Amino acid sequence: MRCPVAGCGAEALDGQPACPTCGADLRAYGVAIGLADLHFNRGLAHARAGDLAGAERELRIGLAFRPEDHESGLVLGKVLWLRGAQPEAKAILERLAALPGGTEVSRQAARCLEADAAKPGPGAAPSGPRHKPPQGRRKRH
Ligand SMILES: [Zn+2]
Repeated sequence: MRCPVAGCGAEALDGQPACPTCGADLRAYGVAIGLADLHFNRGLAHARAGDLAGAERELRIGLAFRPEDHESGLVLGKVLWLRGAQPEAKAILERLAALPGGTEVSRQAARCLEADAAKPGPGAAPSGPRHKPPQGRRKRH
């Protein structure tokens, strides 16, 4: 994990109680990150099992612990889309697509939005999932 202190940004701090660069106490932050990962993985498991309500609940909890977790945001955007909450899904995906740096998350978010633009129009019957839940579990520890 990365030091959360503005202007520090020291990296590879997993398991460290304090930032060696700025001295920040990282213990509570480490717990929050761990909980965010736990709920992200639970959210993925629910999504794979077809339980979108459960996936949404877990992803929102994870994001409460770590709002800057863009990967969780991306999956939440896809899940909300599949649940029919397009306005919120679109807002989330647009924010992620506009992130600087051209990350994989922003590319995926942009692709989801393009898929939506190719849709026949508002009110068209959905032709099935466009945004499949991602495969593979992340491991951040
Ligand atoms: Zn630091």
